Amino acid sequence: MRKTLGLYIHIPFCRSKCLYCDFCSFPRADGETVEAYAKALCRDLARRSAECDEYTVDTVYFGGGTPTLLPIGLLTKILDIVAGCYHLATDTEITAECNPATGGLEYFAEMRRSGFNRLSIGLQSTHAEELRALGHINSFADFEKTFSEARAAGFHNISADLMSGIPHQTAERYLASIDRLAALLPEHISAYGLTVEEGTPFGKMGDRLILPDEDTARQMYFEGIERLASHGYGQYEISNFARAGYESRHNLKYWNCDEYLGFGPAAYSDFGGDRFGNSRDLAAYIEGVSIECDRETPTRSQRMNEYVMLRMRLSEGVSAIEFQRRFGCSFDEVFGKRLEVYAKHGLAERSHSGWHFTKEGFYVSNAILSEILDFSE
Ligand code: SF4
Repeated sequence: MRKTLGLYIHIPFCRSKCLYCDFCSFPRADGETVEAYAKALCRDLARRSAECDEYTVDTVYFGGGTPTLLPIGLLTKILDIVAGCYHLATDTEITAECNPATGGLEYFAEMRRSGFNRLSIGLQSTHAEELRALGHINSFADFEKTFSEARAAGFHNISADLMSGIPHQTAERYLASIDRLAALLPEHISAYGLTVEEGTPFGKMGDRLILPDEDTARQMYFEGIERLASHGYGQYEISNFARAGYESRHNLKYWNCDEYLGFGPAAYSDFGGDRFGNSRDLAAYIEGVSIECDRETPTRSQRMNEYVMLRMRLSEGVSAIEFQRRFGCSFDEVFGKRLEVYAKHGLAERSHSGWHFTKEGFYVSNAILSEILDFSE
């Protein structure tokens, strides 16, 4: 049987830079650079396809940045190269990230015709003052317009991102954002907490950045899960919620430790037993100079720990049978015993198939995982 593979294609351009953003994205790139970048991507995609002959690609994900800032001809050209050079499954999930006030009805219709079948729109909040606090240049009205244009163009699988922990945000306002977004009936909602990264404008503000306190953050997390459930969105990962059957197949590859190849600056890959990435050097990538960095072949022990770390992000947790199949040893003997301690406090649970965190456990999962995992090797 052919192995399956996900492709991640990075489009590192945005209209402006959000105040918390640590992604590899360049605001206000000129048309020449954008075109040269698309060419470089096509060259790279074609070159690497020779190594993928025995794989079926079943997910393709255009992330960013803002992929829908590319002229439509360039975006569909890149997808054409993928379709021409790789073995695509007939039901391949093909996603593009998008920001409000980009794309448009004709643009989305062309995307649908070329094969895109999923859109992930960055909303973050429905409140103008919260969007302003994040440095976003769009409004909720922009989001509603983009959402309805995508629907009209035939996108039946749309995800939207929400954020908690925004400066001055209250739990009531966060829950109101969930209600207003859910009223539009997207198939999938990602609900992330803000992380303040070093080097970003937020990171440089230090104590001047007023974030919701711990009690409010906790209230937003737990009441957010309940509110999403009341609208029909099941939690399948710490920060991801979907109507049944609309879980992100591409992102599940990361949490299941399946293989994927990343293209473009700052894109990472896990392929053929190796993990490797690209630096953020956009100019070198356009020139065709290799920007690969951090290549390593993880040991079995590193793979086991990584598998537990990622699978425990999922509501279904680790399957003991799958663990045995991958690593030839018992999950219970290595990790199960360590999880027993947390089960006593209601943070982890043994199921008929393995182990998973409870909702309380999810909330403190980083601390638990740092206790039970061993990356010292
Ligand atoms: S839209 Fe996304 S990628 Fe672009 S600057 Fe904002 S957070 Fe970063």
